[in-house]
Amino acid sequence: MIDLRSDTVTQPTDAMRRAMADAEVGDDVFADDPTVRRLEETVAGLLSKEDAMYVPSGTMSNQIALRLHTRPGDVVLAAAGAHIDTHEMGGANALAGLTINQLPAKRGTFTAQQVTAALPDPPKSIPPYLVQPVSLVEVENTHNGAGGTIWPLAQLDEVSAAATAGGAATHMDGARLWNAAVATGVSEAEFAAGFHTVSVCFSKGLGAPVGSALIGSAELIATARRFKQMYGGGFRQAGIIAAGALYALNHHRDRLSDDHVNASRLAAGLAETPGVELDLSSVETNIVYFEVTTKTAAEFCDQLLDEGVAMLPLGAHKVRAVANLMVGSADIDAALKAIGRALVA
Ligand SMILES: *Cc1c(COP(=O)(O)O)cnc(C)c1O
Repeated sequence: MIDLRSDTVTQPTDAMRRAMADAEVGDDVFADDPTVRRLEETVAGLLSKEDAMYVPSGTMSNQIALRLHTRPGDVVLAAAGAHIDTHEMGGANALAGLTINQLPAKRGTFTAQQVTAALPDPPKSIPPYLVQPVSLVEVENTHNGAGGTIWPLAQLDEVSAAATAGGAATHMDGARLWNAAVATGVSEAEFAAGFHTVSVCFSKGLGAPVGSALIGSAELIATARRFKQMYGGGFRQAGIIAAGALYALNHHRDRLSDDHVNASRLAAGLAETPGVELDLSSVETNIVYFEVTTKTAAEFCDQLLDEGVAMLPLGAHKVRAVANLMVGSADIDAALKAIGRALVA
């Protein structure tokens, strides 16, 4: 099976499994798991922030950040189609009591002007208690729903500056920040500089089995630890899985460029396939979205599965494929042949 559904389907490598088997562990809830602590210090250092907190998932990391920066009844600004809005089961509303103001986005990005225009600036005739505070601006880099697209650094810095000038905190959902860094040469720390907190995933392209981290100032992360506990994220001898994350961080970041080359190769082949529509310029990292025009995405993906290739149907005709650690360039060529067969089946 050539599995292109997601970059989360990867299996730990033998070397990663050995690192996990050998991991020194303690009780994470008592803050004495040395491997978890080493992972937290390493990732905080990579992003040039004071501290980090290892958590079971990117969803938990984002949800803790939302809770951390806001009070129930506040507004968070985010791009339409943001993961916090579309994939986190209403957590922003249910767990943090927030209203999400969805900004119209271009490839997952919005502008400082849009942020400023969305921040409240009431005239004197309106009592302040009638104004819902915008306490957080959230960005996603790379943007999953837009196709793994990258925020231009200058635009990102303008957005965080506009948020800060308006008194709002800033959070970056950097589940795939590693991909943005490898694709652009801009470091994770540079992307993170204007943001109070950043969430990163170890279990996406890096190929670790479990976990994410929330990164920020020592003061913010100290408070975040209380919410981790509240949300049931205290995970005891988590050093076993933190060792996989640490291994991935130290050994699998550079190889993300292989995934980007493979995604481009797949996209180029798809663009030349009759019955497929694809905007080549939208493929910036490891995610490829395309439309099948002659059948539904569900039919296409079922037929493709019979050919030994898995992709995700994400709309009536929209399909997602994600290059990942388990898929080499020969697999991409085999997948393209299978796609040709599935389209005429
Ligand atoms: C996968 C993902 C998350 C959540 O990560 P989980 O570990 O699956 O909960 C958050 N944001 C983005 C952009 C993602 O792609």
